[in-house]
Amino acid sequence: MIRRGATVPPGTELECDVLVVGSGPAGTTVALELAGSSIQTILLESGARKESAQSRDLLRGFVTPAGSHEPLEAYRRRQFGGTSNAWGGRCIAFDPVDLEARPWIPHSGWPLPWSELQASYARAATLCEVAKPEFNAETVFPGQQAEMIEGFDGADVITSVLERWGPPTNFAQKYGPLLEKSTNVTVLLNATMTKLRIEPGTRRIKRVEVAIEDSHRFTVRPQRVVLACGGLENARLLLASNDESPAGIGNENDNVGRYYMSHLTGIHSWAKLKDPGQTFRYDFERDNDVYVRRRFWITPDAQRREKIGNVIACFLTPYLDQALEANALASAIFLTKFAIALRRQSSAAEYLRQNKSELMRHVNTMFWRAPTLAPQILQVVKQRYLTKRRLPILLPRKEDLNNRFALYYQSEHMPNPESRVMLRPERDALGTPRLDVRVAFTEMDVKTIVRTHQIIGEQFGKTATGELVVDDAPLEDAVRDQLRHFDSIAHHIGTTRMSDDPKTGVVDRNCRVHDTENLFVAGASVFPTSSHANPTLTIVALALRLVDYLKSTRGG
Ligand SMILES: Cc1cc2nc3c(=O)[nH]c(=O)nc-3n(C[C@H](O)[C@H](O)[C@H](O)COP(=O)(O)OP(=O)(O)OC[C@H]3O[C@@H](n4cnc5c(N)ncnc54)[C@H](O)[C@@H]3O)c2cc1C
Repeated sequence: MIRRGATVPPGTELECDVLVVGSGPAGTTVALELAGSSIQTILLESGARKESAQSRDLLRGFVTPAGSHEPLEAYRRRQFGGTSNAWGGRCIAFDPVDLEARPWIPHSGWPLPWSELQASYARAATLCEVAKPEFNAETVFPGQQAEMIEGFDGADVITSVLERWGPPTNFAQKYGPLLEKSTNVTVLLNATMTKLRIEPGTRRIKRVEVAIEDSHRFTVRPQRVVLACGGLENARLLLASNDESPAGIGNENDNVGRYYMSHLTGIHSWAKLKDPGQTFRYDFERDNDVYVRRRFWITPDAQRREKIGNVIACFLTPYLDQALEANALASAIFLTKFAIALRRQSSAAEYLRQNKSELMRHVNTMFWRAPTLAPQILQVVKQRYLTKRRLPILLPRKEDLNNRFALYYQSEHMPNPESRVMLRPERDALGTPRLDVRVAFTEMDVKTIVRTHQIIGEQFGKTATGELVVDDAPLEDAVRDQLRHFDSIAHHIGTTRMSDDPKTGVVDRNCRVHDTENLFVAGASVFPTSSHANPTLTIVALALRLVDYLKSTRGG
């Protein structure tokens, strides 16, 4: 059943076996897997079916120093389905090396073997609609060229690894109807958890405080609670639940909010291939109906030898890249953006003068190539908007790129206790303190990116398949500069990390908060390390594993 939280009268005390807080991929997965069981479940969701200015405001926070991270409301969604209302659907499993304690990476190592994650990836892949957790081109396309560039792969870097893309799955739209039909799951929308309260003298969550608005509040008395509010919000709520213990729940050892991680991404180089023709698997391919793409991966052996983190790269030329000569669609995009920018200029004449040559180049392209535009736009509309499974990214045709392929990297962000989120005295409309994000990086973050470019460049040289040209030299300075204005690309990881030792983590291997008996956390906040992989597939896999645990320890 799905109902508005406002239908619960103020002052009511609801009871349930499991209370799930947050309905993004993590929380929806937990509720969905409990549906049909005899476990009475309430799923609390702070937002409604659509985002509103009020729900957005609850996400606002601070960034220190100012501008060092995107604003906290930039990517996240407070609505039914959470941030799956906005995500791209890119699904990648973590690699076994991600879970290993790597001596050269301080604070690395999960308390789980990779096989335990692997056991949940198949169901997670189904829920994320990528069919199966198969990421090897040799298996997906047997008998065909596995490498992205024929003859390129070597001991240090391979290109036969795939990423898979879902439609993307909107968890509210896809699984809301199943929750609506469920007789043991009640979804309460527009109901914000404000605090967890501990039974005095025990280690149990006794009740959870919920607000519809400042003057309308009620409580839930659950047997067990799963906090699934996203990588930043999970830490915020634990820290804000400080009535019984001043440091917040789970924070006996000052770990809540620390080890905040994301992914480091960017484009600083481009490749020129010896043969950009037939032997180059540049574009998206399909494994049945699922879009897949090959990528460069620095092998675990090379990571070990070089003492760097886990990292991938792929070709991702922005449509406005200078490489894209004489393409009507690119010029149409440029001219539209130019017109929008022109309206904001204090001196339109000066702006036109400054951009004259670029402008004329695109006007010229439009003039001569206008007849090719209509079919290109039709193709884009068809592939991106008139299909259930949209083309993930619109890539320019490789023939139009002048043999200049921009290299995008996505790198692990090293675990670091100094990278953290904490509470500020300022409060939101429901009284919860706002967050302050202080993201930090280590030398190994910079080294990983620099060495990755060198290793890929060296491999091009060794195999005579092409060359990698670094535009931003020295690369190290460019990376450091970029990290001063960090963009998390919506991957918020690590603030309630998992560890068997309460001194070094907030939750144990079963995602139970160490200093409580009945509080669990779902989401990327429990990851001890971030991998290069986008987090959602692993968030869902861990949520599934948590449900298995909740079912098997029922009454515990
Ligand atoms: C543009 C974009 C593209 C992305 N692309 C990808 C991608 O391709 N691949 C990938 O893996 N990831 C991607 N992501 C990230 C992905 O969306 C997140 O990893 C994922 O949504 C996290 O799931 P979650 O359930 O942990 O948190 P969320 O989806 O953020 O859900 C948290 C839920 O908790 C609710 N909530 C918060 N506080 C409270 C409270 N106090 N009380 C009650 N409810 C509360 C929120 O309203 C929300 O519904 C992308 C994100 C964006 C914005």
